[in-house]
Amino acid sequence: MPHNVLIMGPPGSGKGTQAARIAERQGLAHISTGDMLRAAIAAGNELGEKVAAILKRGDLVPDDLMLELVMHRLEQSDTANGFLLDGFPRTVTQAEALLESLEGDRALEGLLHMVVPEDELVRRALSRGRNDDTEETIRHRLKVYHDKTKPVLEFLVGKVPVHVIDGVGEMDEITARIVSALES
Ligand code: ADP
Repeated sequence: MPHNVLIMGPPGSGKGTQAARIAERQGLAHISTGDMLRAAIAAGNELGEKVAAILKRGDLVPDDLMLELVMHRLEQSDTANGFLLDGFPRTVTQAEALLESLEGDRALEGLLHMVVPEDELVRRALSRGRNDDTEETIRHRLKVYHDKTKPVLEFLVGKVPVHVIDGVGEMDEITARIVSALES
């Protein structure tokens, strides 16, 4: 089983839920940048104040801030047995910096690409009712994903083994698909 893994998928693809399950099962550190940013906003700290309006709009937090946050997180000892990155990298700049910083036994060993049709994504996002989830914000986040994050996938193909995961179906079924892709 690969230990240093990245999960990518559009908003509403279920990547956060699946990432938490897979990390727990495999004993990997789950690094969710969305959760980290929302925690900073809830705590009202300096980072939270900087990013609150950006998240509300569905835009991306600047690369320098994200890189500082993630690089610092990756230095923590719980990542030594492996990590599952969820929500990062979201731009080609972030991906380049990440690959450069992870060498040897820290190198990325797999990329899980969650695939879900767009109409299903909007339906799911509206029903989960997070407070940064209005229909307008959701559509904007899908557009940002398309414009900024799809190129990250293209950039990583050939550098990291990619596993395409069908993200439609029962939650347990999807978890099983991911486990079997990682085992293959
Ligand atoms: P979703 O699962 O809906 O895509 P996330 O929880 O991963 O959402 O992230 C929520 C928001 O946090 C994003 O819309 C973006 O504003 C910000 N964010 C998270 N990760 C990154 C990142 N790597 N780069 C820039 N912004 C980020």
